[in-house]
Amino acid sequence: MQLVGRGNVDKIEDFIPYEYKDSHMLIYKEVDINVAHRILDYNGECENVHGHAMKVQVWLSGEIMEKGGLLADFKDVKDIVEDLDHSIVLKRGDPLVDCIDTKKVLMDGEPTCENLSKLIYKRLDGLKEQNPSLNVEKVRVWENPRSYAEFYEDENAKYL
Ligand SMILES: [Zn+2]
Repeated sequence: MQLVGRGNVDKIEDFIPYEYKDSHMLIYKEVDINVAHRILDYNGECENVHGHAMKVQVWLSGEIMEKGGLLADFKDVKDIVEDLDHSIVLKRGDPLVDCIDTKKVLMDGEPTCENLSKLIYKRLDGLKEQNPSLNVEKVRVWENPRSYAEFYEDENAKYL
């Protein structure tokens, strides 16, 4: 489309063609969760079970679904992240796994902030079932107000 001078544009539709399928969007969601963990292969305080009040930030992009006008439902994003809330996250094979009968989440790797950002990223990828155009750009997990880890696949996402 060639942009022309104002005088040559009859209607706003001529100037900004609009269709849902051309609506590439970026949405952002922030969720607070409390998570307990311990790092198994670690010499220091973090080998002991302890908890963090974590902030999780999520960036999603894609096309808006015609039905509902959403890229993704913020509530679905919240539910996926909150599934970890008030749980203990442990590495598979940690002897504690069999001793704890409260809400627990098992991971193949150490339950670090880094691996939690990957886990949440992977779970959010399931939203593609509702919207195939959806792309999880980035997940950032704050372990405390001064430290975070973020996971992304596309290099450009690090500048979001
Ligand atoms: Zn910790």
